[in-house]
Amino acid sequence: MITLPCLECPNDQAEFVTGAVIYPHRPELAEKKAWRCSSCGAYVGCHPGTVEPLGRPAGPETRNARQYVHRILDPLWRDAPAFYDKGAKAYGIRRAARTRVYAWLADRMGLTAEECHTGMFTIEQCREAYRLLKQATYADIRQWAKAREEKAA
Ligand SMILES: [Zn+2]
Repeated sequence: MITLPCLECPNDQAEFVTGAVIYPHRPELAEKKAWRCSSCGAYVGCHPGTVEPLGRPAGPETRNARQYVHRILDPLWRDAPAFYDKGAKAYGIRRAARTRVYAWLADRMGLTAEECHTGMFTIEQCREAYRLLKQATYADIRQWAKAREEKAA
């Protein structure tokens, strides 16, 4: 048990469980790791390869909304290498682009970098993020990031 406030109910204790508990009918997911609210069953997954929670336990609607956010957020940074020379290293570009996309989103939503993870989002924040990201292009975000880097220099 760790102190991890549930998004859906007043409980702040989550228990560590595996996929066998969360997906009893999906043996292929039995190895997955998650933190689950013992009062209402809300849950959140873990950072890959760790037992560290991705955010706050959430119910099905919020989890679904978080996935929708990822569906439009991830291509923004994943497709970023298309903006650069062919010789550039795609891995480094994606990593830098990902940081920029999250920084931009945090700025627009008035969140800190630590708060700006889909695993932390409530359903209202998911809706706000979706609306913002839907209108964004990586070109715009890159321009925003460059202007901010110049101001900081
Ligand atoms: Zn709960």
